[in-house]
Amino acid sequence: MSKSPSISHQVTNYPILALIFLAFAGIMLSKTAWQGSTEPRQQLGKTQVEVASLAESIAERQTTLLTESRHLLKVLGGVTVSDLHGTWNCDALLSRQLESFPEYDNLAFASSDGLIRCSALPWQQSTEQIAQQLALNAPNSLSISSMYLTDNSLLLSASNIAPSGQKVGSVLAQISANRFLHPAGVRLPSNIQIAILNHNGNLVAAYPSQTNWNSITHKDNSFIEALINLKNENATALKAPDGVTRLYTAKAVHGASHELTLIVGQTVENEANTLTTNNNLAFGGVILTSLGMSGLLAVFISMLLLRLKNNRLLLLKTYLSLNNFLTYTRQYFSLFFAKVAMPQNNESNSGLIRQSDYDSLKQSLAIQEEHSRHIERLDQLSQSLQSCVSNADVASAVALCTKYFFPVSSGALLLKTGSNKAGVLLKWGNNIEDALLIKDYQNILQNRLYPAVEVHTATNAAQLPIRLTKSLWIPLITHNEILGALHITELDVLEHKNRQEYFHWLANSIAERAAIALRSAKQQQKLRFKATRDVLTGLYNRRFMEETLIIEERRALRRGSHIGIMMLDVDHFKHYNDTYGHDAGDTLLRTVGELLRKTVRKCDIPCRYGGEEFVIILPGADLKDTSQRAEMLRMAIEKLSIQHNGQALAGVTVSIGAASFPQNGDAWQSVLKTADQALYQAKHAGRNRIAEPACLP
Ligand code: GH3
Ligand code: MG
Ligand code: MG
Repeated sequence: MSKSPSISHQVTNYPILALIFLAFAGIMLSKTAWQGSTEPRQQLGKTQVEVASLAESIAERQTTLLTESRHLLKVLGGVTVSDLHGTWNCDALLSRQLESFPEYDNLAFASSDGLIRCSALPWQQSTEQIAQQLALNAPNSLSISSMYLTDNSLLLSASNIAPSGQKVGSVLAQISANRFLHPAGVRLPSNIQIAILNHNGNLVAAYPSQTNWNSITHKDNSFIEALINLKNENATALKAPDGVTRLYTAKAVHGASHELTLIVGQTVENEANTLTTNNNLAFGGVILTSLGMSGLLAVFISMLLLRLKNNRLLLLKTYLSLNNFLTYTRQYFSLFFAKVAMPQNNESNSGLIRQSDYDSLKQSLAIQEEHSRHIERLDQLSQSLQSCVSNADVASAVALCTKYFFPVSSGALLLKTGSNKAGVLLKWGNNIEDALLIKDYQNILQNRLYPAVEVHTATNAAQLPIRLTKSLWIPLITHNEILGALHITELDVLEHKNRQEYFHWLANSIAERAAIALRSAKQQQKLRFKATRDVLTGLYNRRFMEETLIIEERRALRRGSHIGIMMLDVDHFKHYNDTYGHDAGDTLLRTVGELLRKTVRKCDIPCRYGGEEFVIILPGADLKDTSQRAEMLRMAIEKLSIQHNGQALAGVTVSIGAASFPQNGDAWQSVLKTADQALYQAKHAGRNRIAEPACLP
């Protein structure tokens, strides 16, 4: 009988102890699991920041690269391939450009059907693949696509526009996919994946490889769409179709004809697994604690019901236990359901991308931006040169651009005037004597010292202290012909020490454009000359005469002045031809033409009207003046000695009809007709004389 209470006491206490142990074990388990999850949670937070900033840097760099490419291809697209006269010149132009743009592997001009017309290096791409992309090229935009069916290279292309505005083909740039995806020198860990998708969601390029990307995504469109939708989101953990969890982020890349999407993913499998395990353990701990606490609560309630009436201390204990239980439960449930807090730590020091790599990325961005600005300025030069019709226009556009690139330098543009002869077209900055410039030019061209010559000069009169400056002489060459030279001097050697090659490229780019523009101005002058001149005599032709008379008539009406018109015809020219031959006749016409050119005043306009007939327009001359001048001309021609094939031929005479606007007609046409009638009268009266309308019957 005496044992029974102690047994019953023991029996009552064991479950309570077990329940307390259970609750305690649950608490310990949750606590350990929670502590264990801190590290992977922080690691995830860091990775999230790093993935986001890596994606941002890459997207910014790619946008700059594409913008720069668009400018370069646009500038090259403005070059008319046929102007380059032959493949060799064209190849040479492109390889010079390639040297200055190390990002690219090759540059080429292609016709619309995809045939490569010329390229910096041999081009291996198939015609059909190029043609496919070129078909997509919108004017003034940059297209981008995967070049090979493998993931080696990307093809950038822009339209090649003829001066008439017509599309005549495309300019292509080839760039290695890896170089496009991340800058050389920046090391990426192996658990990083990068992809560029086009606006249709198709893959353009991937790092480490397209095969790797395809094996991750299983080409699952809904997953790829989910990735593209991350563009406005933070880096997010997603389980890829290959079953691996990665932190993904997406950024827009601009600069091509359509927006591209950059996807950066980083494997976070270990961190994610550890976090899940710890979360599960913490949950288990909370369940154990809850069970223990619930058991204890049940025991206490039963005991409470049994002993409540007599035991106030127990009541208090029960209350405290219940209160503790509720507090613990609340804490552990809130602990379990708490969202994983991601520390917003901007400092990236986990070693994923080193600070120095970021710095070099930033520096490369700054250089690319400057390069872009320079290309834009060169493009402006090309455009302004297109509208230049004279050498002077070309020279001032070139000087303006050179001063922009080399603000503290002086310069000059020299134009070849004969074999080893040159003239100074324009000078800027320090005034160097023309004779000195021409001497240097001759020396450099004769000894073929171009394209760049370093000349160290003592610019101080007392020779001390000596300042080292550098001069560049760049010949203006097009169609294998030297048209002159661009001279840039006073380039501070120290200032440009590290960027000499780049500055040479800039100067060469200006010179190349200047040469093309000078040639085109020369051709335009030739064309204008041809359109307005008579080939045999060099006098103005009949069309020019008519256009001039229209303008002169308006001017005379406005000013109330006169226009004298002489109609001049060689006497018995047919006989002359018959006697000495047609060639001698031509010589006679040339000699008369030369005399007219030399004898008339600067403002008078001598024209060949046709055959052996000439018209001379004398702005401001009334009938009296015109007749007087006609008489002088007649006498001069009478005295003319004609030399043909070293032989002196018989001289000729001319008959001249003179008339004046508005005295002899109210329109130039009627005055010309009157002069013709007067000429007829002069012939009729016996030739070798002048006649004016007053003599008409
Ligand atoms: P007239 O004194 O009445 O003017 O007699 P003409 O013989 O000068 O006049 P006509 O109209 O009978 O003959 C003009 C000749 O000029 C005929 C044509 O063969 C010749 N002629 C026209 N253009 C040229 C040319 O460019 N070169 C040469 N050599 N002869 C030309
Ligand atoms: Mg005649
Ligand atoms: Mg005649």
